[in-house]
Amino acid sequence: MKRQSINQRVDILIIGGGPAGLLAASELSNYDCKICVVESMPTLGRKFLMAGKSGLNITTSKTNFLNDYGESKEWIAPLIKNYGPSEIIEFCESLGQGVFFGSSNKVFPISMKTSPLLRAWVARLRRSGVDIQTSMKWIDFNNNINSHPKIGRLSHVVKSGDKDYCIISNATVLALGGASWPRLGSDGKWFNILQKYLGNSKKMLVPFSSANMGLKINWSRQMLKFEGLPVKSIALKVNGEFKKGEFIVSKSGVEGGLIYFLSTMQLEKVTSFEVDLLPNFSITAVYKKLCQPRGKSTMTNFLRKSLGVTGVKFGLLREFGYPFPKTPLELAKIIKNLEVKIDGYYSMDYAISTRGGVSKEAVNAELMLYNLPGVFCAGEMLDWTAPTGGGLLTGCFSTGSHVGKSIAKYLNLKLLN
Ligand SMILES: Cc1cc2nc3c(=O)[nH]c(=O)nc-3n(C[C@H](O)[C@H](O)[C@H](O)COP(=O)(O)OP(=O)(O)OC[C@H]3O[C@@H](n4cnc5c(N)ncnc54)[C@H](O)[C@@H]3O)c2cc1C
Repeated sequence: MKRQSINQRVDILIIGGGPAGLLAASELSNYDCKICVVESMPTLGRKFLMAGKSGLNITTSKTNFLNDYGESKEWIAPLIKNYGPSEIIEFCESLGQGVFFGSSNKVFPISMKTSPLLRAWVARLRRSGVDIQTSMKWIDFNNNINSHPKIGRLSHVVKSGDKDYCIISNATVLALGGASWPRLGSDGKWFNILQKYLGNSKKMLVPFSSANMGLKINWSRQMLKFEGLPVKSIALKVNGEFKKGEFIVSKSGVEGGLIYFLSTMQLEKVTSFEVDLLPNFSITAVYKKLCQPRGKSTMTNFLRKSLGVTGVKFGLLREFGYPFPKTPLELAKIIKNLEVKIDGYYSMDYAISTRGGVSKEAVNAELMLYNLPGVFCAGEMLDWTAPTGGGLLTGCFSTGSHVGKSIAKYLNLKLLN
């Protein structure tokens, strides 16, 4: 790498313009400091915008949601207690984006979309003096410029077009995202860069894997006519317990809330899953209905009239329960416990999120890398996961806020009046 001149000096460099990086910027904008955000894509928050495409589930109103963070609960729960659902709602409202409480404890901005929120957020950051540079990719730390307290502690190479620049900072936030949907900017390429500084140990950098992903099913032609339809008011077995909700039949399998919950929370690898098609009826109630005389009705009509099993629900039953058993009890058992065989997983490129990344072992309580003093990590690039339903963005906001406050202490920044 050729020796470079310093193009910019800032107090804090934030790399990655997703929700985690922008929240760190918001926290730090309360202090007297020079902040620069660099984002590799031409615009900010592309994955955040994608999250709002079918309704931005920004946080949750579930009371026991901290359990959804699994093994990471221990370290992330205190952060979420400091900046969690109420703070997120307050933040949205402060940007003129009121929220509403949807079904299954989901919280959405009234507009349902990301764009009005993001627009107002970026405008506020710019007004408070945060320098935001897009189409600027962080390439590496710059070892050719010696760190010095007078010029700044950390030096970085960033690329814009075919030109390299050098940015010096006193502290840096890495908020580079996970590795799903790489075309939106979070391509996980930072993993190899950090490996040079953290080493090859999986204890420090955990390889990425998909979370919140769809499951592949090679549907029959009959089933494909239900493509895009939700399978509503069902329950799905996750770690031995049935959870109520719904999922969607897609061209190549199943996706949606309950499926993401299963693929994120299930402790063992999934090769099939069990569905209760009528969770509001006991098996005895289903059995009794099935004991009624069927007369000349076809099975389709009989199940529709006796139990309301129709449309996509009936399709699913036929797909995995056919040939139907002769006795009402055996059929009732299948309706209450239908085994849906899966043929694989959606690839990481189409997963909602990834697990893996910077391990908690690599950072201290302030989320600063032990091996790179002054460099803090936030958001999905840290190794934690949660089922979507607001849990992911809540984790990103809370780690972003934590890192912002940690840096203010680390650099002894003065609060603005
Ligand atoms: C289809 C979809 C739907 C979703 N729906 C929801 C939902 O409803 N609720 C929910 O809670 N979560 C949802 N999520 C997940 C949520 O969007 C992410 O968890 C969140 O965006 C992660 O935030 P982040 O800031 O950590 O990373 P990101 O949003 O991924 O941002 C990281 C940024 O860093 C930039 N970057 C990467 N490398 C470099 C580099 N070298 N130099 C400069 N910049 C770089 C990237 O371009 C990117 O903009 C959804 C995700 C998807 C894909």
